[in-house]
Amino acid sequence: MKIALDIDGPVAQFDKAFCEYYNMRWNLNDDYTKYDKWYIPSASQSKVTEEQSEQAFKEFTDIRMFAAIEATKDVKNALCTLQNIGCEIIYITARPKSAYRTTAKWLVKQGLPIDGILFANENKGTVAKALNCDLAIDDKPSNCHQFIRNGINTIFWGTKYNIDYQNKLTKEALKDGIKINKDIFIKRIEGWRKTIQFIRKLQCQKLNKK
Ligand SMILES: [Mg+2]
Repeated sequence: MKIALDIDGPVAQFDKAFCEYYNMRWNLNDDYTKYDKWYIPSASQSKVTEEQSEQAFKEFTDIRMFAAIEATKDVKNALCTLQNIGCEIIYITARPKSAYRTTAKWLVKQGLPIDGILFANENKGTVAKALNCDLAIDDKPSNCHQFIRNGINTIFWGTKYNIDYQNKLTKEALKDGIKINKDIFIKRIEGWRKTIQFIRKLQCQKLNKK
């Protein structure tokens, strides 16, 4: 099974590192665990302005802060388990291309299995389809839409900030006029333990079909 895996969220705790950075930079005290959006939290959740956030993100990239991000809980064990049961792990990230070296070095340093690293900030769905991925894991609703649009089964990586999207995803996709193939699923799962259980089940079903 070939898996298209998002980095920020399922693999790296970007929100935490970025929030710490802009808090320091702009002397704020935002709490990333209360975000209701990814990347730039809404005004009700944060004191950072859009301009400050954009400036902080540029600096964050320029001074290679991606190297200092903490890994997501349990990710190393999880990805090694997936590799052991025959999965290929292709990272598809929307990070700026200038962060390629820092990102690749970080993945190696964490001891994570790597079968490919791609930078795609426009349409992750078409990239994953071109690579014949069987499954995608991502925390951003619009990316998940792109995956299901391209006929790729999707695990919607559950975090606090996307909890409301649990049921909206397929409804929104239908509203967009996307015909969802009945064989394609999208499932919101929180944490690697449950994700691994789910993927193991998928693997068994696949083997039983053969
Ligand atoms: Mg993400």
